[in-house]
Amino acid sequence: MKNKKPENKQESVQKPEKSVRNREFAVITYCFIGLFLCLMGYFVYFQIEKSEEFINNSYNSRQETFAEQIIRGEIHSADGEILAKTETDSEGNETRVYPYGNMFSHIVGYSTKQYGQSGVESWANFNLLRSNAFFLEKTVDDLTNQKSIGDNVITTLNYDLQSIAYQSLGEYDGAVIVMEPATGKILASVSKPDFNPNTVEANWEAIVADKEGESALLNRATQGLYPPGSTFKIITALAYIQQNPTDYTAYTYSCTGSIQKNESKLNCFSGEVHGNVNLETSFSESCNTSFANIGLNMNLKDFTQTGEALLFNQPLPVSKLEVSKSRFSLDKNASISEIMETSIGQGKTLVTPLHMLMITSAIANDGLLMEPYVIDHTENYEGAAVKTYEPVSYGELMTIEEAQVLQSYMQKVVEEGTGSKLKGMSYQAAGKTGSAEYGTNKGDSHAWFVGYAHRDDKEDIAIAVIVEGAGIGSAHAVPIAKSIFDMYYRY
Ligand SMILES: [Zn+2]
Repeated sequence: MKNKKPENKQESVQKPEKSVRNREFAVITYCFIGLFLCLMGYFVYFQIEKSEEFINNSYNSRQETFAEQIIRGEIHSADGEILAKTETDSEGNETRVYPYGNMFSHIVGYSTKQYGQSGVESWANFNLLRSNAFFLEKTVDDLTNQKSIGDNVITTLNYDLQSIAYQSLGEYDGAVIVMEPATGKILASVSKPDFNPNTVEANWEAIVADKEGESALLNRATQGLYPPGSTFKIITALAYIQQNPTDYTAYTYSCTGSIQKNESKLNCFSGEVHGNVNLETSFSESCNTSFANIGLNMNLKDFTQTGEALLFNQPLPVSKLEVSKSRFSLDKNASISEIMETSIGQGKTLVTPLHMLMITSAIANDGLLMEPYVIDHTENYEGAAVKTYEPVSYGELMTIEEAQVLQSYMQKVVEEGTGSKLKGMSYQAAGKTGSAEYGTNKGDSHAWFVGYAHRDDKEDIAIAVIVEGAGIGSAHAVPIAKSIFDMYYRY
């Protein structure tokens, strides 16, 4: 009994000491947790709200601060090729490296200290200069003054298609652009003349020097404005169908090789005489005089409205890509020769290859346009997904019925008309050729092809090709499209 009391005393003395210590510990712990939460909150707020605008503003000195903390991430093709990466030497000097040189120069772009960024390097600057490496890893990097590894950007680009498009265009200037109509994914985008992004800083003066007014930095696929030539007959035919919905199939015209109205005269291509044509054969044989006749018989205001519904005279709904606005108009004061020229894609009308590709894709997709995009997703350097970009629907450019009529016309171009080099393959191709005259020399023309291909076991792909100064579309643009279709449907 006696022994128990001191023991109890001891206990009764110890208990308050323990609880005071516990309380102190709890207070300190809560303080730390509170501070930590504040920091985390600010961190998250900064990451989500502030960092994008800081990083993307190229005039902001914060960008250099990020570049000092993060090793710029890599850019990949959809099929796993590294299109851009940063190499660090033993002294810590970083070099941006583009393993495929000129091949992806416009679409992937360049990243320089002195001249900023272009292409995906510019659009995804924020993602590339952000690290979603493990938080602990980044904290250790911070404490040891090491750079964290930035996130990788995975594009929609397909290496094989880009490669064949680049090779097929060869020595010509021009553009080739390929898209998946069902999603809007850009699979390939080539523009020539091109440049080597590895040496863009060293060769800047030479690269920006004008080549007949246009720098090699111009992305002709999205910014080049060209006369559409006969590819514009897609738009003229649609306008005619919309103005004559019940009897457009009854249209007939007798082509004698030329059409004269008042003082204005227009010929079919290369002295051809097409004889009796309807709307479908006017299209598949690309009869200029019939389309000039169609233009003369249309309501010009409604014709312009058809053009505007197809996104002429307005910014294209495109995520990130820098695009030029296409131009088309025919007001009530338009001269007869202007109406005839415009109806066959000459006159003042100008389009970008991307725009023609979007119209073609909408036709292939039963009228529905998906917005083109190039960045599929971002991931941290270990491959964990960070952000995925889903396809976005722009809406209908035309009705399903109208799209299906144009599909059948474009199929006929391949079956019986100017696109016959695409006939009899493992896929069913459809499209429209064009030879767009430019400049003052009669006969100088850009070769065009726009079209798409279908095979049941794969997604459809659509293509726009323009070969500057090459001549006839069927001879110079169709073979390029064919090499790309052949590659895509090779197995
Ligand atoms: Zn004709």
